[in-house]
Amino acid sequence: MTAPCRDVVIIGGGSAGCAIAHRLSEDPSRTVTVLEAGRRDAWWDVLIHMPAALSLPIGNRLYDWRYYSEPEPFMNGRRVYHARGKILGGSSSINGMVFQRGNPADFDEWAQRPGLENWSHADCLPYFKRMESCATGQDEYRGRDGPLALERGRAEGPLFRAFFEAAEQAGFGRSDDTNGRSQEGFSPFDRNILNGRRWSAVRAYLDPARKRRNLEIHCRAWVTRILFEGRRAVGVEYVQRGRMRRILSDEIICSGGAINSPQLLQLSGIGPAPVLEALGIRVHHDLPGVGENLQDHLEVYVQHACKKPVSLTPNILWRWRPWIGAQWLAGAGPGMSNHFEAGGFVRSGDDQPYPNLMIHFLPMAVRYDGTRPTRGHGYQLHIGPMKSDARGHLRLRSSDPRDPPRMQFNYLSTGQDRREWVQAIECARHILAQDAFQEFDGGELSPGDPVQTADQVLDWVARDAETALHPSCTCRMGADPMAVVDPTSMRVHGLEGLRVVDASVMPTIPNGNIYAPVMMIAEKAADMILGRPALPRAAPESAPPLGAP
Ligand SMILES: Cc1cc2nc3c(=O)[nH]c(=O)nc-3n(C[C@H](O)[C@H](O)[C@H](O)COP(=O)(O)OP(=O)(O)OC[C@H]3O[C@@H](n4cnc5c(N)ncnc54)[C@H](O)[C@@H]3O)c2cc1C
Repeated sequence: MTAPCRDVVIIGGGSAGCAIAHRLSEDPSRTVTVLEAGRRDAWWDVLIHMPAALSLPIGNRLYDWRYYSEPEPFMNGRRVYHARGKILGGSSSINGMVFQRGNPADFDEWAQRPGLENWSHADCLPYFKRMESCATGQDEYRGRDGPLALERGRAEGPLFRAFFEAAEQAGFGRSDDTNGRSQEGFSPFDRNILNGRRWSAVRAYLDPARKRRNLEIHCRAWVTRILFEGRRAVGVEYVQRGRMRRILSDEIICSGGAINSPQLLQLSGIGPAPVLEALGIRVHHDLPGVGENLQDHLEVYVQHACKKPVSLTPNILWRWRPWIGAQWLAGAGPGMSNHFEAGGFVRSGDDQPYPNLMIHFLPMAVRYDGTRPTRGHGYQLHIGPMKSDARGHLRLRSSDPRDPPRMQFNYLSTGQDRREWVQAIECARHILAQDAFQEFDGGELSPGDPVQTADQVLDWVARDAETALHPSCTCRMGADPMAVVDPTSMRVHGLEGLRVVDASVMPTIPNGNIYAPVMMIAEKAADMILGRPALPRAAPESAPPLGAP
């Protein structure tokens, strides 16, 4: 039987994959197929669509690839759990819905690298604007009619009031909008939520395109190999309902995410020759950067007991969940929020050129996996450095696609990283110790009094920190020998017919959550693939150099 042939095959119907599928299938003469390893995101699936249920898909094989890092050498050999969306919409269907663009300086730093001259903030800002529909904010910086609907966190109630007041008492400013003129400061956060439902990349980009006859979406279609004729990628092999299938294509776009894209490239013989040869994989193209330069954000929770019954901690109790679900179905109640409604960006020290610490405030005390430090009321700050210089790598464990790759992040491995961690905990404690919290403060639950000196803090971070779930940069764009992707076309260097568009192509991790930058990359990449001219650069005054006030 001959394999079907399409103009474009997109590997992964995740965050970037949905956006690319939408843009490329706008022209009805181009046939586009999306192959997604996970299931469809059924309309009735409360765990996806109810924002407050965000922690429930994590660790569940129906939603999550369920990865672990290798034992981390600077974290007492601890293996760090890494959730990744395995469902249509990818990680956008299970993420925390926090929408932050990063600091303008991130993109200006990218643009200083050879080949990336067109990735400055002024080049990226028009794409950030094109993709979003922001109900608030200044026109110069924010988009009004893009597919990604955004709601601003309400951040109301006594604990959010105390948080904003405490930040001011601690000497930090406010920002009108951390995605606008100034990233630095505290403000309510934008979220990918519309009318109390998660607004994933599927809702934003695939739903409006579903009826197009030139777009096919195959779920439970797991790509195990890219096929080549010489230097040209000509198709893929995938497993669906237990059968191995093939599809041929003029153009293959790999959007499997920062873990699966380098894994698939390596399985297809594209990667560091010694690593592939050691596993008995025939080297198709020796590209040493595939899987290198792995970056992420680590975070901790500084948790306090709350003396007054004003926190949302009781909402986590199982006995309240049916009631919260019923309210949510009626379009009301705490189920409508992801509860990451506000936070801010501050500098870890006066010598810092940009606000390198990110803070979220939560009016409850709970870890991402749903565990609580107290049966009573509580609140917490999430904090972590956003520009760690720690670098890791991702390499295949074996030539079997079912084996998860080995990932080592080397968290806490550098002097800068450790110094910023100590400063981060000082900063979180400084905010939480302000008078504004006095009437609520029932004492620090975590890390707690025994953790005081720098060594104790670092020991606690090594034991307690979790990933903020932002692995990235493993197929980075660039023009040097370790670069994987050409920044002007998204093509894999040295090959034809194969591009990568997802979190893996970032050269360095942005200063904040990374979903918004991933979607901006997908929008910008779509224009490159379509051969359209890039959107005109933003005027310089719209692109503040450091996002500082
Ligand atoms: C639990 C969680 C919470 C997060 N919270 C936030 C947040 O609040 N804010 C934020 O900005 N960021 C957050 N992130 C990070 C952000 O969501 C991701 O970085 C971003 O969505 C990644 O987009 P992507 O397109 O690179 O990959 P993904 O969205 O992960 O898409 C990759 C897709 O490819 C599919 N796939 C992979 N391999 C194959 C294959 N071989 N064959 C077929 N299909 C394949 C996957 O199943 C998946 O659907 C979070 C991430 C997680 C997991």
